[in-house]
Amino acid sequence: MNVYDSSRMADILRPLGYAQVDEPNDADMMILNTCHIREKATDKVFSEIGRLKKHKEAKEAKGEKMLMAVAGCVAQAEGDFILQRAPVIDMIFGPQTYHELPEMVLKANGNERVVNTEFPTVTKFDSLPEEQNQGAAAFLSIQEGCDKFCTFCVVPYTRGAEYSRPVDKIVDEAKRLVDQGAKEITLLGQNVNAYHGTNIDGKTWGLGRLIEAVAGVNGVQQIRYTTSHPRDVDQELIDAHRDVEKLAPFLHLPVQSGSDKILKAMNRKHTAERFYEIVADLRSARPDLVFSSDFIVGFPGETDQDHEDTMQLIRDVGFASAYSFKYSARPGTPAANMTNLVREDVKAARLLELQNLVTEQYLEFNLASVGKTMSVLFERKGRKEGQLQGRTPFYQAINVPANERLLGEFVDVKVTEATANALVGEVQMVENNIKQA
Ligand code: SAH
Ligand code: SF4
Repeated sequence: MNVYDSSRMADILRPLGYAQVDEPNDADMMILNTCHIREKATDKVFSEIGRLKKHKEAKEAKGEKMLMAVAGCVAQAEGDFILQRAPVIDMIFGPQTYHELPEMVLKANGNERVVNTEFPTVTKFDSLPEEQNQGAAAFLSIQEGCDKFCTFCVVPYTRGAEYSRPVDKIVDEAKRLVDQGAKEITLLGQNVNAYHGTNIDGKTWGLGRLIEAVAGVNGVQQIRYTTSHPRDVDQELIDAHRDVEKLAPFLHLPVQSGSDKILKAMNRKHTAERFYEIVADLRSARPDLVFSSDFIVGFPGETDQDHEDTMQLIRDVGFASAYSFKYSARPGTPAANMTNLVREDVKAARLLELQNLVTEQYLEFNLASVGKTMSVLFERKGRKEGQLQGRTPFYQAINVPANERLLGEFVDVKVTEATANALVGEVQMVENNIKQA
């Protein structure tokens, strides 16, 4: 979401004469786009400010100006604190206000410090300029905010209430992205499957129907969506996994815990049993579908048995990738007032145990891919000379020795090697295998 937001900020700033540069020393403005989801992320913001401010100071010593801004959810949640603690910062603005950047830049250039953490009534989507080229794999934001209020989470406070963009705006944007070279579109939202946008006939569409509509856009070859919540997986979405071949066979579906007691304390509003059912329904709709998930260990009150329930869920379901985190208390959330805390060393041990298990699962999944041929979208140059990097339909990262002209294309690749983190492959029959839309 932040990668997408940053690219939209660049779109807004371009008409003002700004362009992206690689080195801070070459910049007239630096924007730190921040995440507030876990404590570590917030701490990083202040250390980054400390690290980057020397560039501004060096410029100012030469009599030149440089603006420095903090954007995103840390700005939203801690705007006043940043204002006091970091006098070097000229602009502080939340994720719902970046369409107002031109006015903010004007004020900041007039030496006014700007704090903008409102939730404006004119939504930013209605006032953003058209998006610029994102390349072959593009993001398309369809939904924002969250009304679920999981007890550990800051998102409902920093990103605000749920909002779904209208269907026609999304389909138009998909067409424009294709015109600019996009072949894969990832539909984005904090709770993407809570999507309930209005169609031109006034009817409300869920994500399943929207996916069908986006799949109908000429030139869209692959669709992904993220991040989804188990509670909003409805029959229509399951059917889309069965019917829409362009929908990639990979789904990120965070479950957080395998213990009903903890799921209840987290206010996730579903049981472990329900998660198993959803996974089974999706797998019967699309047998090759693989899952990824998020896990929190050490939520207040989590016992060894609760943790074991999570481990059992992981063994039962099997994941192709996973993100796992130690619980960290976030100011203003209900869980921050809970007193039955889990000791740090216990959290660390549980995290390690969980990560070892999921790493074994990715390795097993990746090794099983060796020898198979898959359609890979080459998104960028690889780290090694002469290599391109892309993703398989199952979202595995893959490095392949390949000609640069294949960049931005879907190409059939045979997987030759695998580690837990990535695959290596070779291009099959270079001349004829560029898939046509
Ligand atoms: N909307 C998604 C997740 C968004 S937040 C969902 O409901 O599943 C991304 C991930 O950050 C979460 O899935 C969770 O695993 C992690 N996370 C959020 N708040 C956290 C906290 N206070 N401590 C640790 N991890 C947290
Ligand atoms: Fe946070 Fe996701 Fe829960 Fe919303 S559904 S409160 S974004 S964890």
